[in-house]
This record gives sequence, structure tokens and C-alpha cells, in this order.
Amino acid sequence: MQVYKFGGTSVGSPDRMKQVASIITSTDDPKVVVLSAVSGTTNELVALCQEVDTEDPGAEDRLDALHEHYRTFVNKLYQSAKLLNKAHEFVNNKFDYLRTLGQKKFTIQDEKEVLAQGELISTQLFTWVLEDQKIEAVLLPALEFMRIDKSNEPDEYYIKSMLEKIFEDFPSQRLFITQGYICRNAFGEIDNLKRGGSDYTATLVGQAVGASEIQIWTDITGMHNNDPRIVDKTYPVEALSYEEAAELAYFGAKILHPSCVLPALKAHIPIRLKNTMEPEAAGTLISHQESKSKITAVAAKDGITAIKIRSGRMLNAYGFLKKIFEIFERFETPIDMITTSEVAVSLTIDDNANLSRILSELRHYGQVDVDQNQTIICIVGDFGGSKAGTAIQIFKALQHIPIRMISYGGSDYNVSILIQAEHKAQALRDLNQVLFHL
Ligand code: ADP
Ligand code: ASP
Ligand code: MG
Repeated sequence: MQVYKFGGTSVGSPDRMKQVASIITSTDDPKVVVLSAVSGTTNELVALCQEVDTEDPGAEDRLDALHEHYRTFVNKLYQSAKLLNKAHEFVNNKFDYLRTLGQKKFTIQDEKEVLAQGELISTQLFTWVLEDQKIEAVLLPALEFMRIDKSNEPDEYYIKSMLEKIFEDFPSQRLFITQGYICRNAFGEIDNLKRGGSDYTATLVGQAVGASEIQIWTDITGMHNNDPRIVDKTYPVEALSYEEAAELAYFGAKILHPSCVLPALKAHIPIRLKNTMEPEAAGTLISHQESKSKITAVAAKDGITAIKIRSGRMLNAYGFLKKIFEIFERFETPIDMITTSEVAVSLTIDDNANLSRILSELRHYGQVDVDQNQTIICIVGDFGGSKAGTAIQIFKALQHIPIRMISYGGSDYNVSILIQAEHKAQALRDLNQVLFHL
């Protein structure tokens, strides 16, 4: 079994959807195909929720425009008049539902149900594209097997056992289609795996079915050495280890959901990043094999808050860090970077939901300073303890940029540097020039 995931742009037009049909049928391997919403849809649904919540009259126009977009989309999708009618009726029903939203108090649960509509629409339309082409496939509702637990972590046992049970009903079926991103939570309510979550669905499904390979098809040829949205000259990296890919994904390489590498790593399944617009290009292979280059790639993660706790109580003491960490644990806030000195500790978080409560507890232990709007620049490469000379290149590249924190030696393949967000673009460009000579 293989898992193929296609992102929003890959199903973003009627032609692209038809091309996806040809890609998934170009080899005989049995497949689970995970689809995102048609590009732009989730953003529109997010904006719609905001408008409905604030009773902004703009919601009506937004819905009309999106509905019209889907009408035109569907018109170019099918040969069969029967399927065309069915698809129009299906889309109309979805928009009828969306139009009812303003009629009662809008809840967080309503929002999650609205956000699920993009993938519910794309997978149904695509399954009918396959039917139109006489390609046999089964649409598997992700809401029947994809589940997160009370800590919002995937319930791996449930996902695996439900998928096994579902597959038993289709012993000779070779092609399954399902929704990325959407799931149910521990209370059985509709939920999601956070923005970009279809990648995560793909690797979780891959892990659950013991796939031989997971292919993530998108609008660019593989993981690039730097952020192509910010830096002009970038190139695809041929191979990455799971650890390298996980660091890049977690620290801002948007091509992959921050958590999606882990299930593939745990199940030893290679991930291939492929370009729907250039299917023959090799892309990037993520596996146990390291990239072997001294410096492989750079990524940046925004929205970081740095917290410094200064305290005389740290001097020659043990147990101080434990007390600090316990505060973050209690407020379920992960720490990304940490550096310490004899009298102070600095750390970063990317989730400010409990910031004020965390700060007031930290103040019991010393003087606390906070810097918001920071960016972590993550440099991935071979930084093993026996290697010399790479740090100097990084600092040479960043010589004009004020550095707030440095984390080196936490792993053999990552150096993280904290800077103010306003310096991010310059830092990425400078690193590109000095580290990759571009
Ligand atoms: P999809 O909708 O297929 O999931 P995404 O937009 O989520 O696609 O991810 C692909 C995009 O990620 C690319 O178009 C590119 O702009 C962006 N990106 C950011 N960093 C990188 C990187 N290091 N390598 C490749 N793409 C990246
Ligand atoms: N449609 C969702 C989003 O835009 C999930 C995804 O595309 O991966 O975030
Ligand atoms: Mg994505």
C-alpha cells in the first residue's frame, strides 16, 4: 500500500484534479489518496467564520463568490451529465448549510465544522471525477477513522484499528480516497489537525496501514535549501534524514506540516516530496539516509516569544530549571529553544495562549523579561561534535544581524538562532549567499 497526498494547488483547478487522477493511476500499487481542500478554500472558510462570528455583513458576499467559484469549477469537471448534476446538487447543499450559519449563535464547534467542508467537498468531487473516468475507487470518510485524543495528539491505536476494520469491508479494492486535515476529537466532535494538516493525515495513515511509501504532492519540486517565498535562488534538496526534515518542518518550512515527519519515522516509511506540475522530477526523499552535506537547508519560524528569567537563586543551585519547566508543563506550553548562563535562563515558546499566567508564576523565581515578535532561524546540516568550521560560516553570514539566542549542540544536525522578526528576510538571504553561494 502507498499513500499519496495532494495539496490544495494540486487539486486547485478542474484540470489539476484530472491530472491527479492520471498520476494515481500511473502505477498499479494499491493506494490511499489523501486530498486537501481546493486551494484558497480553507482560507476563505477561516475568513467566513471570522465574519459570521462578528456579524460582519461581508460574509454573504464571500459565500456567494466562493459558491460561484465552485459552480464554475464543477462545470468543467465531468463528461457525464448525471455526475455533473449530482455534483452541483452536492455543492449547493454545502452552501445551503453555510448560509444557515448566521441564524444562531456561532460556536467554536460550528467553526470546526465549517473548516471541515473544504476537504469534504474536494474528496467527493474528485471521487466522481474517477467515476467519470470509470476508475474504481472508494471514498473513505476520515471522520470515521482519524481521531485525536484529549491532548490533541493523534490516537494512533484508534486510527490503525478503525482503518483495519474499514479495509476488511473492501478486500479487493485498490484505490481509496480520503480527506486530509479533518478528524474527530476525544469527544467525537469534528476537529482538525491544524493548518496544513493534510500532510499529517497522510503520514498517520501511512503509519497505520504500514505503507511502503508516502508521497506528498505539492506545487514545488521537493524541500528547497531555503524559503522560496523569501529568497530568490533556492534549489531542491535530493535527500533528507527524518530528523533533518522534522527540524525543517517544525521550524517553518511550510511544505510540510510541523509534526508530519514523526509517524513516518516511527514506522520507517520513506516520504517522497513531489511536484504535481512536474511529476517526472525526483523531488526530495526523506528516509533514514542523511543528506551528507555540511549544511543542507535553512528555515524560519515566526511568532516566537523569548522569555528570560534572571535570578541569583540559580547560582550554584540545582533544581532551578526543574521548577521553571514545571510551570510550562502545567500550562501545556512547549518550549522550543533554551540557553542558560549561571544567573539567567532564556527560552522561547510559540504559543502565547497562557503567556500572562506563565509570566506571573515565573516572577516568583526572579526578574522576567519578555521579547515578542521573534523568529527562529533553523539551520540544518551535519554539525556533529567532530566537525569544525560550520559555525563560523553561520556567524559570518549573520554578522550584521543582532542575535538574541543561539542553540548549538542540542542535536548533531541543527543550529537554531533567535532574531527579531524584522531581520528575518535579510538573515535568510545572507545565509543563502554565504552558506550556499547563491
Ligand atoms: P500544499 O497546499 O500542497 O500543502 P503548501 O503551500 O502547504 O502546499 O506547501 C508548499 C509551499 O511551501 C511551496 O509553494 C513554498 O512556497 C513553501 N515553502 C516554504 N519553505 C519551503 C521549502 N524549504 N521548500 C519548499 N517549499 C517551501
Ligand atoms: N486545507 C487545510 C489547510 O489549508 C489542510 C491542508 O491543506 O493541508 O490548512
Ligand atoms: Mg500544505
